Amino acid sequence: MNAFAILFFWLSLANASQALGNPANPCQVEIDSSFPAEIKNALLQTLSFIESIQGTQSSPLHQQIFEGPVNGATYCKFIQDRIRGFRYVNFSGDSSLYAENHLGYMLIGDLFLNDTIVDRASSILHEARHSEGWPHANCPIPFLDDAGKPIVGTLSGDSLAGTRSCDTEALSAYGLEVIWARNIEKYCTNCGADVKALAALNEKVLIFRIIDADAKASILQDQ
Ligand SMILES: [Zn+2]
Repeated sequence: MNAFAILFFWLSLANASQALGNPANPCQVEIDSSFPAEIKNALLQTLSFIESIQGTQSSPLHQQIFEGPVNGATYCKFIQDRIRGFRYVNFSGDSSLYAENHLGYMLIGDLFLNDTIVDRASSILHEARHSEGWPHANCPIPFLDDAGKPIVGTLSGDSLAGTRSCDTEALSAYGLEVIWARNIEKYCTNCGADVKALAALNEKVLIFRIIDADAKASILQDQ
């Protein structure tokens, strides 16, 4: 996003939060006091965005995963039912890891700041899904997109061939992200064009992570 788009999005988000949510404690989940202010603010903005989402419809697979329509209340409940809160961890080593579940807490690292708000929201839902299991599968070697180019990690830029960054089931953590993105694009009634464009991009990029043909087909047919 360019600076203008960020400002515009931030303003629409601020308005949505005022009208709908609780800006001080969106989704009412515990946020550990160890967070640096900048990351805590990014997390609060992300949870406010999640809480502000409005809609009344969803696809069948979205219903199976989230048990509700495209709506902030659906997603806040999904998070609240799966994690006790958020903790800050200064990850060293794995540069691409910035959120994972640990003893019911979701761990957030510095790289959280490098993502767009739509990616942050999508990742929180992905990680919450892991509290039920849904382990990843190894990506194939080579791991190429439709144009024959190597598929790389969004943050790291490294090739994902042979890494545990793929899924074989439609309702898995990456499947959830694609299904959520499609539903935001189609059924969110108060998401701006910038949010829908980021969702559409995620949908396109993350569908490659579903490496089972039947699982992929069921996601592509989910309307
Ligand atoms: Zn995962």
